[in-house]
Amino acid sequence: MNKLTLPPLPYSTDTLEPIISKEIVELHHDKHQMSYVNGANEIIEKNVWNKDAIKSFSFHYNGAKMHELFWENMRKPQENNLPPQGMFSDFDKFVEEFTTAAITVEGSGWAVLWKTDDNNLFVGQLEKHNLLGLNGAKPILVLDVWEHAYYLQYKNNRAEYVKNWWQVVNWDDVEHKYKS
Ligand code: FE
Repeated sequence: MNKLTLPPLPYSTDTLEPIISKEIVELHHDKHQMSYVNGANEIIEKNVWNKDAIKSFSFHYNGAKMHELFWENMRKPQENNLPPQGMFSDFDKFVEEFTTAAITVEGSGWAVLWKTDDNNLFVGQLEKHNLLGLNGAKPILVLDVWEHAYYLQYKNNRAEYVKNWWQVVNWDDVEHKYKS
């Protein structure tokens, strides 16, 4: 298996300010995401696939991949940041549902918008990075609610982070992932 690399951010580290600070973006990408890449690569290098190695690899590999989606899913903040027409039959209801999913993740995890292979959308949660195969469903919008994603700026106020995050959702990217 080929080793993983840490892709550069698709924008500069201050792009998401003031919603997500430059300091958080730097730490999150350069330290946390990097540690998932390194963790996966150490196991690839050892090439001993026992139970512990498989579990640890899954954690690190999925962690690395989830962060790639997360950065792609965001852009410079925009007020009144709306999705493409027709993507959601009831956008307000979707926002409410996804927000609830994000706020109620117990401990570390993610809120995820999945697209099924017959183009239906549904909202779910991941514990840690447990990205399990769901009959071909693909994550098209993901929100990191690990404390490392917001604590430096929002302290324990995850709800405020999630509320503000809607301004940086890159709907062009979500639409691209939805259509591909
Ligand atoms: Fe993270």
